Amino acid sequence: MNGNFEDNYRHKGLRKQLVELLRTKGITDENVLGAIGEVPRHVFLDSSFVELAYQDKAFPIGSGQTISQPFTVAFQTELLKVESGMKVLEIGTGSGYQACVLAAMGARVFTIERQRNLYFKTKAMLEHLPYVRVKSFLGDGYEGLPTYKPFDRVIITAAAPVIPRHLIEQMNVGGIMVIPLNDDDGNGQKMMRITVQADGKLKRESFGDFNFVPLLKNVADD
Ligand code: SAH
Repeated sequence: MNGNFEDNYRHKGLRKQLVELLRTKGITDENVLGAIGEVPRHVFLDSSFVELAYQDKAFPIGSGQTISQPFTVAFQTELLKVESGMKVLEIGTGSGYQACVLAAMGARVFTIERQRNLYFKTKAMLEHLPYVRVKSFLGDGYEGLPTYKPFDRVIITAAAPVIPRHLIEQMNVGGIMVIPLNDDDGNGQKMMRITVQADGKLKRESFGDFNFVPLLKNVADD
C-alpha cells in the first residue's frame, strides 16, 4: 500500500491496456475482465510507480509475500466460475487485490491471512476502498472458517502440498475450489479445479503450471 488512493484517467487507461493484454493471453470471462478493469491495482502495491502496477507481473508486498500476477488472478478467478451473491473463501489475503476482484464480481468474500503484520496492513487499507463485502480474518487457512460455512467457492492463493480437508468440509455440494497443488517433482504447482459432487466425491481437473509462495501452517508474527 502506498497511500495513493487517487484513481485518475491515467490509471483507468493503464487498466484498459492490462485488460486487453489479458484477453490476448486467453482470458475470456467478461465478468473477470470487467473486475480487473475496475479494481485500482496501483493502490495495493508498495511502489509509487503506477506503471508497474499495470504490468502483468507479480510484486513484493512486504513480509516476504507477493501480489499475484494479474494473469494468475484472472486465470484463477475464471476457473472459479463466480456468480454474484456467492460466498467465497480466499486463503492468502496478501495485498487484498484478489479479494477485491472477487468482490467487484458481486461475491461475498471471506479472506484469511496468516501473517499478522500483513493482515493488519491490508485490513487498514481495505477500509479506504468501496469493497465492503470483503471480510478479512487473521488465521491459519488450513482450518478455514467453520463459523461462516458453507462456501460456494474456495480460492487458495498459495502453493498447497495437499487439498486441505477442512476446506472441503466447509463447501456446498456443487462447490468449486481452485488450488495450486505442488507437483510431485517439487517444481512448481499445477492449477487444479476441485468440484464437490452430489455423492460427496471430488472431481479434479488440471490447468497448467504456476509458481506460488508456500501455504504454511499456523499464524506467524512477521
Ligand atoms: N491473494 C494475494 C496474494 C497472496 S500471496 C493477493 O491478491 O495479493 C499468498 C499469501 O498467502 C501470503 O500473504 C501468505 O502469507 C499467505 N498464506 C500462506 N499460508 C497461509 C495460510 N495457511 N493461511 C492463510 N494465509 C496463508
